[in-house]
Amino acid sequence: MAVQQNKVSKSRRNNRRAHDALVAANPNECSNCGELKRPHHVCASCGHYADREVVAMADEVEIDEDAA
Ligand SMILES: [Zn+2]
Repeated sequence: MAVQQNKVSKSRRNNRRAHDALVAANPNECSNCGELKRPHHVCASCGHYADREVVAMADEVEIDEDAA
C-alpha cells in the first residue's frame, strides 16, 4: 500500500477541495414538447432534436404480443 511521505495540512487539503464543488445542470426547454432537457441532447420525453424526431418513443412502437 502506498503511504504518503508528508502530512497534508488542513489548509492544503481544503485548498485542493476548493475545486470539488458540483455545478448545477443547465436545462433547456424542449422546442417540441416544452419539457426540460439537457442542452445538445435528444429530448428524453419526446425524442426530438433540432425540431425533428430522431428517436421513436417506446409507447409509439406497436409490439405484437402473439409473435415469436
Ligand atoms: Zn421534447
